Amino acid sequence: MSIGVAILGSTGSIGCSTLQVLGRQRDRFRVAALTAHSNADLLQRQAAEWKPAYVGLVNGGSGVGARGSGVACLVEAATHPDVEIVVNAIVGAAGLEATLAALRAGKRVALANKETLVMAGELVTRTARECGGEIVPVDSEHSAVLQCVTGRQSAELARLILTASGGPFRTWTPERVAGATVDEALRHPTWKMGKKITVDSATLVNKALEVIEAHFLFGLPYDAVEVVVHPQSVVHAFVEFVDGSVLAQVGFPTMELPILYALTHPVRVPDAGTRRFDPVVAGTLTFEPVSSDLYPAYGLGRTAAATGGTAATAFNAANEVAVELFLDGKIRFGRIGETIARVLDAHHAGDAATLEAVLVADAEARRLAREAACR
Ligand code: NAD
Ligand code: MG
Repeated sequence: MSIGVAILGSTGSIGCSTLQVLGRQRDRFRVAALTAHSNADLLQRQAAEWKPAYVGLVNGGSGVGARGSGVACLVEAATHPDVEIVVNAIVGAAGLEATLAALRAGKRVALANKETLVMAGELVTRTARECGGEIVPVDSEHSAVLQCVTGRQSAELARLILTASGGPFRTWTPERVAGATVDEALRHPTWKMGKKITVDSATLVNKALEVIEAHFLFGLPYDAVEVVVHPQSVVHAFVEFVDGSVLAQVGFPTMELPILYALTHPVRVPDAGTRRFDPVVAGTLTFEPVSSDLYPAYGLGRTAAATGGTAATAFNAANEVAVELFLDGKIRFGRIGETIARVLDAHHAGDAATLEAVLVADAEARRLAREAACR
């Protein structure tokens, strides 16, 4: 019997890569549900090929043979009886309720949607623990960590070092970065991804989100989660154990491998689809510290993480609003970090243990961000 997979956000970068992977694993998996926000054409083509039991289109009614519409379709897909694994490939806060619903239903969530683990990490991890659901990371750095720690006890873990490519502005001056255009920010050197995460990689907000994600997934304190800039994106993460030994997971950059591993963990299955690693082709690997002048928003994220509670919720919300304004041409690149700083200054961090508290903090931070960005 094959395993039923739901893909939330099937029309995006991770969603499409997931279907690539599943196309090579048809004996093991079937597509049980697909959802998209508004790309009805692509969703329809995917549904015609995979014939899932459930198809949902958030924005666009119940045309295109979709069985569900509106935001409710995300939870319907995530909890559908034919679904055992939910790949959450939605971008941003919109993915939260579906993750919670899938975990409450005891399903495995293969989580690409890191924003919701940042906005509500305590709530999401507690829901998984209490309801028997499981969160397995799709993010390449966290997949690397998971691959290194599988089979070990958490008391054996000492420190994580996540790698960051440094994005397109790694060699720029801070002054030039502040005025970077949308086209320049979207020119990522090593990964081809959706627009929001590509901008997050240019500000290094993505890595701050990943530090918080790692804290919640692996239970380490923040001072044991470090980041190093590694422009070649070949080493995905290092894991240091209590005896001082360090393991790393390496490979040419592709999301297909972490996606497949999130589906099959802790087992590995044969897959001939991805490019095999060759150290000679990879060549020289370099590592450098994160420059706080070049990536001010990264430090803001770490500070919010250390503050705890709803500070991370506010950090994520402010960033989502600022990135959208930047992509719409309404604010300059440097304004993203400035907006986040203003929101965090004004935000009174509180308890983030309930959905209500998280949603209130998220909405308040979004309001503050819109005000701060355009002032
Ligand atoms: P994307 O923009 O390419 O795709 C986003 C998908 O989410 C689309 O299918 C869209 O229909 C859906 N979506 C967007 N807004 C929605 C809403 N309000 N309600 C319901 N569905 C909505 O993004 P992506 O690059 O695939 O990234 C998805 C997630 O994976 C993000 O959280 C990102 O940080 C994470 N991630 C992506 C990569 C990558 O290589 N692309 C790597 C690591 C992590
Ligand atoms: Mg990543």
